[in-house]
Amino acid sequence: MLARSATGQEMSVYTTFSSGPRREADPDGPEEYHVVLLDNGRSAMLGGDFQDMLRCIRCGACMNHCPVYQAVGGHAYGWVYPGPMGAVLTPSLIGVETGGQLPNASTFCGRCEAVCPMRIPLPKMMRHWREREFEQRLTPSATRWGLGFWRALCTRPALYRLFTRAAVLGLGCLALGKGRLRWLPLGGGWTDHRDFPAPQGGTFQAKWRARK
Ligand code: SF4
Repeated sequence: MLARSATGQEMSVYTTFSSGPRREADPDGPEEYHVVLLDNGRSAMLGGDFQDMLRCIRCGACMNHCPVYQAVGGHAYGWVYPGPMGAVLTPSLIGVETGGQLPNASTFCGRCEAVCPMRIPLPKMMRHWREREFEQRLTPSATRWGLGFWRALCTRPALYRLFTRAAVLGLGCLALGKGRLRWLPLGGGWTDHRDFPAPQGGTFQAKWRARK
């Protein structure tokens, strides 16, 4: 499953067979054999909402199919495990206070769960983390204000059209015809690491009306 789901190889290159210390009839082998298991918080996941995550075989299929991972890349996740599996596992290992923003980096399209060979319900577990983040009031106030503003905009169609038209025009001007932005007001978290694509043409709604 690892080979098929990760890179489509016929034979996995990651498989290790450990046969223990040398037996009497063996021609060679180690005299002693030690296994060191690093728990690193995994035992705490047993019996809880995130137990299914312990079945992960690290194949990476969920990452390769994730539209967010494809857009932002692995380093943006800021820890060892990127992509949807990292968004669930990282808060389990370093705490929701530190890694709580990761489960928010999801569109909940569900492709990660669909392609996971272990059938791990990743979107459901990301929802659990979001609930905890909300219950503990860990969401930064800037995000709460931003979402409130977005809700106010989305529930007023005329205002939404006006705002999106102005945003498309403004971002187009900032891009100076290059099709991309190296700097974005309030968007340094994105543009510090990668360019932001500038809107091309009008808004979606304007294009939709023209098409009709
Ligand atoms: S969560 Fe599933 S798809 Fe993602 S790395 Fe683990 S086993 Fe593979």
